[in-house]
Amino acid sequence: MAKIGINIATGSLQKQEMIVGIDLGTTNSLVAIIHPETGQPVVLKEHDGIALVPSIVHFGNEGQITVGDEAKKFLITEPGNTIFSVKRLMGKSYSDVKEHSSFFSYKIIDDNTESLVKIQAGARFYSPVELSSFILKELKTRAEHILKTPVTKAVITVPAYFSDAQRQATRDAGKLAGLDVLRIVNEPTAASLAYGMGLSREETKTIAVYDLGGGTFDISILRISGGIFEVLSTNGDTYLGGDDFDREIVKYWAAELGITDEELGVHKNLAQELRLIAEEAKKSLNVSDDFTGKVAGHEVKLKKQKFENLILPLIERTIQSCKNALKDADLTIGEIDEVVMVGGSTRVPLVKQSVSSFFKRNVHDSLNPDEVVALGAAVQADILAGNNKDFLLLDITPLSLGIETMGGLMDVLIPRNSKIPSKAGRQYTTQKDGQASMRIAVFQGERDLVKDNRKLAEFNLTGIPGMPAGLPKVEVSFLVNADGILVVKAKELRSGAEQSIEVKPQYGLTDAEVEKMLMDSIAHAREDIQVRALVEAQTEAKQIIDTTTQFITKNSIFLSEEEIKQTRHAMDSLSVLVNKGAKDEIQAGIERLNEISRPYAERLMDEAISKAMKGKSITK
Ligand code: ADP
Ligand code: MG
Repeated sequence: MAKIGINIATGSLQKQEMIVGIDLGTTNSLVAIIHPETGQPVVLKEHDGIALVPSIVHFGNEGQITVGDEAKKFLITEPGNTIFSVKRLMGKSYSDVKEHSSFFSYKIIDDNTESLVKIQAGARFYSPVELSSFILKELKTRAEHILKTPVTKAVITVPAYFSDAQRQATRDAGKLAGLDVLRIVNEPTAASLAYGMGLSREETKTIAVYDLGGGTFDISILRISGGIFEVLSTNGDTYLGGDDFDREIVKYWAAELGITDEELGVHKNLAQELRLIAEEAKKSLNVSDDFTGKVAGHEVKLKKQKFENLILPLIERTIQSCKNALKDADLTIGEIDEVVMVGGSTRVPLVKQSVSSFFKRNVHDSLNPDEVVALGAAVQADILAGNNKDFLLLDITPLSLGIETMGGLMDVLIPRNSKIPSKAGRQYTTQKDGQASMRIAVFQGERDLVKDNRKLAEFNLTGIPGMPAGLPKVEVSFLVNADGILVVKAKELRSGAEQSIEVKPQYGLTDAEVEKMLMDSIAHAREDIQVRALVEAQTEAKQIIDTTTQFITKNSIFLSEEEIKQTRHAMDSLSVLVNKGAKDEIQAGIERLNEISRPYAERLMDEAISKAMKGKSITK
């Protein structure tokens, strides 16, 4: 299926590699391509199979990893080893997801509330990036099987509201799965592209994209003009989707059958069965007026009217979000030119009717709503491959630009393939008390350790006023101007001390060298990500040892001898691990130290609070 092209330089035939579009969803993921013969986007599926791969990873007892429908079977029976909704955890710290912790039935590690979450399955710890990479790897393998050609290049979609960190995490997951991620595209943008919107330079339009998936709802208002998509506003609810429709049905049937919540909690097979039949009922009610099924020998029934009553309050919440999004974009309903329906749950007729009547217009629903994002990603991939000649590609940065941070890690500020001109900034701080200067080393490349990337420049920001470590705020900003010149500026925000430098990143680099740098990053992806994870764990451990040491010195009179002894012992073994241990061992060491210090830290906190109430403070 891959295209055959003629290499003008050598005159020989060469197989041009296909770039795939990937919708990496919270509930389902899938791959699409532009069909080489018809030129139309199509989703990839095995013969009469389904294209959707549930975004679920299961870990077997012997460490076997399965993804998709096979993994979904274990969702309720083996909750600890069956990881779903990992997309919600991308680029998140524990404190970000804490209030929803009951949603996740697997173990999320809360060793340090500000660092990125990790998930424990069996004796191992996984980052959301690794878990997502398992899903991407499965998609890649399936695509290669169907296309009978290697697949190494992809466009991956993300929600419009994803932060830089979440986008970077998605890129990393792709890299770890052996994919060169040519671009991260917003899901609503992809959906619009699938409907052909934005493909003409002359067109100016305002589009509302309503996306109701399995567990999340997003409404995005986009403006396209001159072939460029701009997100005017986004709104939604990250804990509302079609799975809630199923839950409403389960609740209703459980009440009818006299089954209590506790019983459902104990009889996991029954709960699983009810959930699956509920989803089946929901789907069948799109086309018929009543449903009858069997659960554990009991008959269950549901009328369409009843179902609609159950879900109406949920739909009304989505409509309220639409109102908020319009308000934020400063638009009225009449100013919306197109409404695009995305997500499997928009197949429910009441959803479609409600959205259509709110926006007072027909909605676009001719493409499969659960495929439309992947189809649009394929359209974007085709544009990047240069096949869609009408659509001019904007200038982009061919390699990532960033600075060196703790432990020699590369911190990317402007990811490769960013549009030019492009701007990014991030705040850093000092590591030592009284530190008066900070070295800013600028690098280019895709590897995780700066030693493997290309150094562009280095300078010292001096004149930072004496302050304890962690207090100075140094804002580093990158600007790639229209001529491709990179201006790096560092500024200490309290004192105003400032320094800047200009470089031409592409100077002296041939296309072949750029290509080699990209390929190296893929070849070393696994080792790079492991090294990065190790360095991050080491850094985290060192910080925890430092803060714990300070804490027990300051508060020694409030601690028992036994507590201090145990803490010192845990810190000593953690120090040994920092130098010699593997990532998981270091994390386990951090966890052990936290388990020892948590009880007295909480106790002192409580005392401090009650003393503060009396006007006294416990520490100086
Ligand atoms: P996500 O974007 O969250 O990965 P999808 O767009 O694939 O998810 O939507 C998944 C949701 O769509 C699930 O809740 C599923 O039950 C629901 N869904 C799929 N097909 C239908 C259908 N025919 N009718 C109603 N809901 C459906
Ligand atoms: Mg989706």
